[in-house]
Amino acid sequence: RSLRSNDELSKFFNHDFPKTKYSISIPFFIANKIRKTGLDSKFAIQFLPNEGENSTLGLIDPIGDHAQSPVKQIVHRYKNRVLFFPTQVCPIICRYCFRKNELGVGDDLFRAEFEKSFNYLENHPEIEEIIFSGGDPLVLSNEKLSYYLERFSKLKSIKYIRFHTRVPTTLPSRIDEGLISLLKKFSSIFKKIIIVVHANHSEEFCKVVASKLTKLSALNISLLSQSVLLKGVNDSTEELKSLIETLVENNITPYYLHHPDRVKGAMHFYLTIEEGRKIYSGLRDSISGWALPTYVIDIPEGEGKVNAFNPETYSYSGQLINKKGKKIPHQDFLE
Ligand SMILES: *Cc1c(COP(=O)(O)O)cnc(C)c1O
Ligand code: SF4
Repeated sequence: RSLRSNDELSKFFNHDFPKTKYSISIPFFIANKIRKTGLDSKFAIQFLPNEGENSTLGLIDPIGDHAQSPVKQIVHRYKNRVLFFPTQVCPIICRYCFRKNELGVGDDLFRAEFEKSFNYLENHPEIEEIIFSGGDPLVLSNEKLSYYLERFSKLKSIKYIRFHTRVPTTLPSRIDEGLISLLKKFSSIFKKIIIVVHANHSEEFCKVVASKLTKLSALNISLLSQSVLLKGVNDSTEELKSLIETLVENNITPYYLHHPDRVKGAMHFYLTIEEGRKIYSGLRDSISGWALPTYVIDIPEGEGKVNAFNPETYSYSGQLINKKGKKIPHQDFLE
């Protein structure tokens, strides 16, 4: 149940929004919060259409991770772990999304390609961790999640299961009793289950969200965070400090702070690496080491994540070093 078109948005907020070619989905839980925070709030602009989406700047596939895709549902970039894509659908559509030019095109990938994925995992015993990604993996029903976990539990090499999800702060009702008992069951079957909660602003948290996170943190699983540094949303040391404090209050260990990718249709959220480094170094000073997320950037064309912070300089040379030590040009510009 969400607002799904420009028309529905206008009616709900009694306001005209710019027309863009990108899909809209704002669950009522978030729409009601936007009514309280205001249409221009740092919270709201993550989800509302913006004229900036019509800009021709930026890249369609900014990180190129499908380059390492041996089968449709899997990206195998790092030896011991894979991304697993059971769906391309998300309950909410974030305007800054790095997959915004590919989301929602294929529907639920359940079973369609799964035997190929399973064979791949069987033939690659070096893979120890399966990272459910998407789309948002928690858009799947508990039955489907159970099915996948049951199958993966038959592979002796798989020790860890991870979910990357935006659901906890955007559709908390999805964290239902069925999901909790499923996680409980599988947390004793795998060595560890990890949930990486995607959240970018402290205003995403409230009593409802906190009560769901309390249920998750009572399980024998780890809660980590990932956030995207976004212009106009959390691009100051104070804003990030407040986000991190809120994560910690909710038993979530800060994990990654992503430099934004140069995504076509989302360049209005972009900031330069130099700006990002200055904000992050302010954080180093005001956040204890155990709560400090690692600031990372994805090198384009599937070269992977690398550290975005440079202790020697704020200014950016125009190159990033990939895992083989090779320098890869990566322009940090807006045109
Ligand atoms: C980010 C990412 C992972 C997970 O990396 P961690 O550093 O373990 O969080 C795995 N595969 C791909 C392709 C990724 O982009
Ligand atoms: S939840 Fe993640 S994948 Fe889905 S629209 Fe938001 S940023 Fe993109």
